[in-house]
Amino acid sequence: MILQLLLSGLSLALAAGADFYKNYDELSKAEREGVDYRVVVHQRRAPLTVLAIHGGDIEIGTSDFAQAIAGEDSSLYLFEGIKHTGNSKLHITSTHFDEPRALAMAAGSRGCLSIHGFLETVRSVVCVGGGNPVMRKKMTDQLTAATGLGIEVESPCQRFGGDDAKNIVNRCQNPGVQLETSTALRRRFDRDPALRLELARIIRKAMVD
Ligand SMILES: [Zn+2]
Repeated sequence: MILQLLLSGLSLALAAGADFYKNYDELSKAEREGVDYRVVVHQRRAPLTVLAIHGGDIEIGTSDFAQAIAGEDSSLYLFEGIKHTGNSKLHITSTHFDEPRALAMAAGSRGCLSIHGFLETVRSVVCVGGGNPVMRKKMTDQLTAATGLGIEVESPCQRFGGDDAKNIVNRCQNPGVQLETSTALRRRFDRDPALRLELARIIRKAMVD
C-alpha cells in the first residue's frame, strides 16, 4: 500500500515534471501558432464547453472526439499539436494549462468537459475524473448503462483524478468532468466512426440533460 502510494506519487511527479514548458507563456515564446500548434475556438451560446487541450497530435484522436461531443450545440476549445514530429513537447499538464482563450471560455461556461488520451493499446477504457462528483456520477451511470459498446468504465479514475482546483476543467463556473480515453478506444473510433458518434451522444446527454 505504502509502496503503491509512493509509486503513484512518483508517477504524478514525473507526469508534472515531464512537461517541456511550464505554462503557455513559455510555450508561446518558443513555438509558432499556426505552424507548431493551433488553437480552435467555437464559442456558442451554450452552458457547456468541451475541451481538448492535448489535441491534434499531442494525444491523437482527442480533438475528433471532443468535436463529436460538442456537435453544433456546445462550445468547443482545442489546443492542437500540428508539428510534423515531436508534438509531446507541446503537452502542458492540465493544472498548468493557462492559455488565455481557454481561461476566458472556462470563465464564461457553466460547465466543462475535458477529453484526454492515455496509453493503453489493448483495452477500450474511459476513465472518469474531474472535480464534480455529481456530474461524475451522472457520466458514470450513462456510460455503464451503455453495455454492448465494449467499453470499460473506470470510475472514479484512480490514475488521473482530475480533481485539482487548478485543473482547467475545474476552472469553469462549476467544476467539471475529465474523461481519459485509452489508445485502443481512439483507434477503434477511426475504424468505426459510428462508435465515436454514439459514445459522443451518450456523453453529451450526461453533461447537458
Ligand atoms: Zn491529456
